Amino acid sequence: MIKQDIYDEVQGLHTLCQSVCRQLWQHPEVGGAEKRSADYLRRIMKKEGFVLTDSKTLPHAFYAQYGSGSPVIAILGEYDALPGLSQQACARKEPVEPEGPGHGCGHNLLGAAAVVGAVAVKRFLEQSGMEGTVRFYGCPEEELLDGKVKMIAEHLFDGCDLAISWHPMDANMAHDRAYLANTSMRFYFSGTTSHAAFAPERGRSALDAVELMSVGCNYLREHVVDRTRIHYTTDSGGFAPNIVPDKAGAWYFVRAPHMADVKDTAARVEKVAKGAAMMTDTQVRTEHGCGCCEFKENNAFGDLTYANLIEADGPKYTAEELAFAGELQATVAQNIVEKSDALYRTQGAAMFTGVGGRELWKSCEMTASSDTGDVSYIMPTGLFTTACWPVGVSPHTWQAAASGGTTIGEKGALYAAKVIAGTAYDLYTKPDIRAQIVKEFKERDTGDYSPMVGD
Ligand SMILES: [Zn+2]
Repeated sequence: MIKQDIYDEVQGLHTLCQSVCRQLWQHPEVGGAEKRSADYLRRIMKKEGFVLTDSKTLPHAFYAQYGSGSPVIAILGEYDALPGLSQQACARKEPVEPEGPGHGCGHNLLGAAAVVGAVAVKRFLEQSGMEGTVRFYGCPEEELLDGKVKMIAEHLFDGCDLAISWHPMDANMAHDRAYLANTSMRFYFSGTTSHAAFAPERGRSALDAVELMSVGCNYLREHVVDRTRIHYTTDSGGFAPNIVPDKAGAWYFVRAPHMADVKDTAARVEKVAKGAAMMTDTQVRTEHGCGCCEFKENNAFGDLTYANLIEADGPKYTAEELAFAGELQATVAQNIVEKSDALYRTQGAAMFTGVGGRELWKSCEMTASSDTGDVSYIMPTGLFTTACWPVGVSPHTWQAAASGGTTIGEKGALYAAKVIAGTAYDLYTKPDIRAQIVKEFKERDTGDYSPMVGD
């Protein structure tokens, strides 16, 4: 079986790719509630001859395995949607269900391409009789940044040698490094209620503590490493101005380029919380959520996914699709579109065409976070993006949700499936490349990783 055959396998699976994209898009489920999506993918993998292993802790996590011996290649799939991003496949903001969930991050496409890539790889292993194993990973709760962290803690990735992941985006690009490390903390302040006018001296306001904590953290920002992000929401602030609030909470995310910096800054945020409690004579309880690592750099893996992005046939678009993309793009601030467009063009990519130059990831490093980062800490992991929405459209928007429900998103997913399958083909058949990737992984390994699963 030559490499073109595996691309042809993927092309032959285009109806499967399209139905998975659509099924997931039409039934968006937020992180932790992906029952229908996970069960649907389980059925497909079982029908394709994979053997399923379910997580014992996360009901919507599993992996589906085919083959025997090494290398064992993991293909990472996700399928969770986002709250409030329900959207029809049209070029204006129009929810299917007001305030309902929607696939604003394109995880319907992500899951579909991973399924199709894994099925094509299975057929390759079957037909070639080569030694090797493929696993499709059904990873829930990516948007909660904890699914894969918990799966690692449960040892569900044990036995894997390498992983391939991708993400829908506005350009075709290999990412050698990506994402900020992140941790989540919730602070619960408790004080004493009182009549705010009749007996204010008897009250101890938990809301004051939340506010002072914000002030402290906003001063802290000046003294942290570059590209640190500290953001928060508050979930309660009392009932009425004349009752001193005795309960108030704040939810913080701390992000930074490396997990070590996240831990350092998070410890200082906790001190600020204690300081705020002390100032207001209230108590504070901290609940630590999951943390996830940045995506560990691997240039050799980047070279391989880049080569496969170039080698695989990119999609062709109809005049209608391009017109729709133009309409969607017109709803985004034009200075943002122009900035992205100019950057991509200098690197050989344009709207839906070309592959961003080998160095482009350095200017487009994704500053969101993902639990995929943790996978990249336990084994060499490849990451690439394909254009699934127009240049300038950001993930977590109604525009991304709209595009992911059209043939534009579906074509981006099929292209991604080809890149996944082609990359896996090279990993199975070219031991030198594999060895180079593993060598770089080991060189960068600090040996101190452990999953941060929280309290
Ligand atoms: Zn995402």
